[in-house]
Amino acid sequence: MRVPFLIIGGGIGGMTTALALAQAGFAVHIVEQASEFGEIGAGIQLAPNAIRILDQLGLSGAIERIVVRPKNLVFLDIDSGEHLATVDLADRFVERYGQSYSVLHRGDLLDALLDACRTQTNITLEPDKMVTGIANRENNTVVVDFADGTQYVCDAVVGADGLWSKTRTLLSDDDPICSAYVAYRGALPMREVTAPVENDDEIIWIGPNKHLVQYPIRGGHLYNQVAVFRSDRFDPAIARTEEWGTPDELDQHFGTACGQVRRSISQFKREKRWPMYDRAPLANWTVGRVTLLGDAAHPMLQYLAQGACQAIEDAECLTRFMVEHDGDVDEAFAAYQAERIPRTAQIQSVARIWGEIWHTEDPILRELRNRVFARDTTDHYVDLDWLYQTRVG
Ligand SMILES: Cc1cc2nc3c(=O)[nH]c(=O)nc-3n(C[C@H](O)[C@H](O)[C@H](O)COP(=O)(O)OP(=O)(O)OC[C@H]3O[C@@H](n4cnc5c(N)ncnc54)[C@H](O)[C@@H]3O)c2cc1C
Repeated sequence: MRVPFLIIGGGIGGMTTALALAQAGFAVHIVEQASEFGEIGAGIQLAPNAIRILDQLGLSGAIERIVVRPKNLVFLDIDSGEHLATVDLADRFVERYGQSYSVLHRGDLLDALLDACRTQTNITLEPDKMVTGIANRENNTVVVDFADGTQYVCDAVVGADGLWSKTRTLLSDDDPICSAYVAYRGALPMREVTAPVENDDEIIWIGPNKHLVQYPIRGGHLYNQVAVFRSDRFDPAIARTEEWGTPDELDQHFGTACGQVRRSISQFKREKRWPMYDRAPLANWTVGRVTLLGDAAHPMLQYLAQGACQAIEDAECLTRFMVEHDGDVDEAFAAYQAERIPRTAQIQSVARIWGEIWHTEDPILRELRNRVFARDTTDHYVDLDWLYQTRVG
């Protein structure tokens, strides 16, 4: 079958790209290996750089219905419970970036994207379609093979197929790098939450080798929690097994935490865990008529909460250059990666450092960090101007 523009992967990156390209007048076909388009039942933080783009895509109404806007981001010491800093996310933040800091349920975000995609007649959505092979041909086409034995011939392919991207193997033989950290996450009904939730605040408890993030989602009906710790049992040889980062380690690591954190941890579901991976930045994302997007291109540790935000920025950038270059795929892909690689590489590196600062065991470094946090100000976010104030369109 002939498919002019194929997107592989129906996650946040692939869906946003499909929507942006379709709104710009390009016909796109999106394939997803899962039997339906969906996301896991946990929360996601979206900073102004991503919300701004979703807004431009006409999603502000849909987002408005599903979003929670924390008034503050509060940092606390995970062991002593000591207050470290409060970052004010209210009026001055919104004025500075033109958008709010937003938290929402991943499923709600994907549904909003899916609904918007369904209103576009130039988007074909195909779930239950797993890519097994991709090859550039000399006549500027790409042949894509599927597990069901079918084959598509495409003029352009965007690999938005996530951390374990098949598409990326065309460009690199690098493997995802496991950080030895693992996350447990999920949302529980707000009525079951034992700690007080003020102003819809986002709370981040930090300490040596672990942290806990908490915030309300879905109009405040659910409370999202993410507990992350460094496993002592981790060994690269067992990275792909379930032998490390186990629920008993979760309890052991958080056993020294303050009472409120321990009570929160006791409410976690334990059947699924997410090992934390990233990769080193890649110098080139494009081969022939195939390019990468989102986690396939630039997987990062989640400490800046930017992985999905960057996938959304990718979608905007790729579309902008497709329009600017009048649909010339070679020129658009080249311009896209020239703009996106330096920025995402920087964020991948800073995310690692951010995690090290949160998780440091070094008492001197901790003292220094806490002093910076204790600055008599609530606009610490200005340090992230480079991240949140991006040019769009
Ligand atoms: C604990 C944790 C917390 C996070 N918190 C945040 C946050 O607060 N804010 C933020 O911005 N980011 C956050 N992130 C990062 C964010 O989740 C990812 O960066 C983002 O989801 C990547 O989206 P994507 O579309 O690129 O990839 P994915 O969401 O992985 O989507 C890829 C899709 O491709 C499909 N696929 C894969 N292979 C194939 C194939 N062969 N054929 C067909 N389909 C295929 C998959 O099924 C999947 O649906 C967090 C990550 C973690 C682990």
